[in-house]
Amino acid sequence: MPEKVDLLLTGGAVVTMNAAYDLYENGAVAVQGDSIVAVGPADEVAAAYDAAEVVDCTGQVIMPGLVNAHTHVPMTLLRGLNDDLRLDVWLGYLMPLEREFVTPAFVKLGTRIACAEMIRSGITSFADMYYFEEAIAEETAVIGMRALLGQTILIFPAPDAPTYEDGLILCRRFIEKWNGHELIQPAVSPHAWYTATPELLRACADLARAFDVPLHTHIAETRFEVDSCREQHNMPTIPWNAKNGVLDTKLLAAHCVHLDRGEMYDLEKAGAGVAHCPTSNLKLASGIAAVGQMLEMNLNVGVGTDGPASNNDLDMFEEVRLAALLAKTQSNDPTVLPARQALELATIRGAKAMHMDDVTGSLEVGKRADIAVVDMDGVHNQPHFNNHADAVYSRLVYAAKSTDVAHVMCNGRWLMRDRDLLTVDEAQAKADAAQVAEEIDAFVLERESSPYNKLVLLSGVQRQESFEIQVKVPIADDASVLAAIDGDQLEIVKRSHYKQYDQYFMFDRHDPDAARLRYREDEFVNDAGEVFQARSRLTLIGEEERQAFPNAVMLSRSRFLAEADRTLRFYREYFDPMAEVEVHKDRRRWRVLYQGTDFAINLDDVTRPQMDGYFLEIKSRTWSRTDAERKAELMTELLELLGVDPETAVTEDYAGLAFAAM
Ligand SMILES: [Zn+2]
Repeated sequence: MPEKVDLLLTGGAVVTMNAAYDLYENGAVAVQGDSIVAVGPADEVAAAYDAAEVVDCTGQVIMPGLVNAHTHVPMTLLRGLNDDLRLDVWLGYLMPLEREFVTPAFVKLGTRIACAEMIRSGITSFADMYYFEEAIAEETAVIGMRALLGQTILIFPAPDAPTYEDGLILCRRFIEKWNGHELIQPAVSPHAWYTATPELLRACADLARAFDVPLHTHIAETRFEVDSCREQHNMPTIPWNAKNGVLDTKLLAAHCVHLDRGEMYDLEKAGAGVAHCPTSNLKLASGIAAVGQMLEMNLNVGVGTDGPASNNDLDMFEEVRLAALLAKTQSNDPTVLPARQALELATIRGAKAMHMDDVTGSLEVGKRADIAVVDMDGVHNQPHFNNHADAVYSRLVYAAKSTDVAHVMCNGRWLMRDRDLLTVDEAQAKADAAQVAEEIDAFVLERESSPYNKLVLLSGVQRQESFEIQVKVPIADDASVLAAIDGDQLEIVKRSHYKQYDQYFMFDRHDPDAARLRYREDEFVNDAGEVFQARSRLTLIGEEERQAFPNAVMLSRSRFLAEADRTLRFYREYFDPMAEVEVHKDRRRWRVLYQGTDFAINLDDVTRPQMDGYFLEIKSRTWSRTDAERKAELMTELLELLGVDPETAVTEDYAGLAFAAM
């Protein structure tokens, strides 16, 4: 008497991806409830089971649903927004935008779009990391996909957590609520060690261990990241993560592009998973992970699309093919990562990397029914050779396309039949996404409208509210000025000596008063001429009215300061100036009191571009315009005291002088 089951998929080639790589050329899979109850030759399974629904899969492949081991699903809504940028600049653009737009509704819509795309690509499980992971979980569960969802925690203010302590609380609540759900596996996601403090990494690891949930993070994505880890912590990225407890968790490490053999060994020993993201690594020029070596060590490597802002799609067929091709080139050996093993990465090994292989990743009795059925009759996949059994892997990895996927089931529930999505209203989701894109477009246009807006969005700025009054005079020789400074009419409050390296970004070639951004590095020099301290600052100058007092004393407002914690190269690519001017100078500076009023005197030797003699500058600040006028008069007196003719003052600043000299 045949046993009753809900569903029988029969007549297709069954690719099980079990430990023995069993294949059934004319096979069948029986499903009862959410689970697989039989896998085998079609006639045997048909004889043993009486199914309520029978799907004829003749000419098709019945395979495990694909596993996307690393992504950021809501970023579908940012797809194509910032392409062709370096990772740090790309993040520089993205993070402020995310703070502005990312809400629970945003991530739900992004998840919906991503799930629709992933189901069409035969994916049934994915590993995510983003903000408002709770909303992502709700949406994913409604749509019916399986997912490892990591609540992101980082030191910067996030859209869902102003501080990382808030992020940790959010993450704990998320885990408490979702742990044990049939589809959703909650996880802890410190974004990366470089956006975390050691305390934060440790707290994340402790949280993951306390609940026995995976920890999903980015590790060793770029050479730059690894170099900075060595610089800051005297060790590469895996030992640093290990030192902070990360390897004591069920770790899923995304990227792992720049690891040495010892680090790979440590990951393997820790039972960690690696999410290899070939397209993202190529697009951001991060490098090519040594997947061949990792597999030699039997490391659990999965394949991930990464977020659609750096891919730009969620097509696992494309991703697994690229993984196979790259592994060969990376190791100079075409036998590395053959088709069957490549498919393993996208199925059972990916599930192992996500620590979810007990429920998904292969077609085996007792596992959940996560299944994709793929057409094999497309002209791009003809003809078929049958002289060796493994040909089906070659067809799937090297020729099949995501558009060949006909049916998808997850947890025993149909998500797609004959290419019709059953749990997502695709048309509505597309229309909603178009609406969001319109809003983001408006935001970006506003940001691009001025360097000020770009600066504010990047780092926030401190406005220097005071009026700045200054005068600048070229002088041939510094001896008489030095003598006068040491005279008894001035009280010296402080002296300093530094080398100043200024890079001015100009945004309008023709208007000298237009806004310019100055990136300044100060190197403080001691009496022995040695540099003992350095700092970098950004100053946005202008878009203001400058007013000239008599004798070329200038009054200016609207200076905005920001700490420059990124490289000059970053700012160049982010602000994209029309022209640049470089000014280097040796500056001796005195803070003095003259008639009870505070002034700064600079004696500058401009070394780039080479300028003859010196420049004497006197500066002061105030909150009041009347006071500014009073100080302007005092400055003229001070010039005379220093033996300099006020009539010879110049109105241009160094950028203007250097620009004219170019
Ligand atoms: Zn990522």
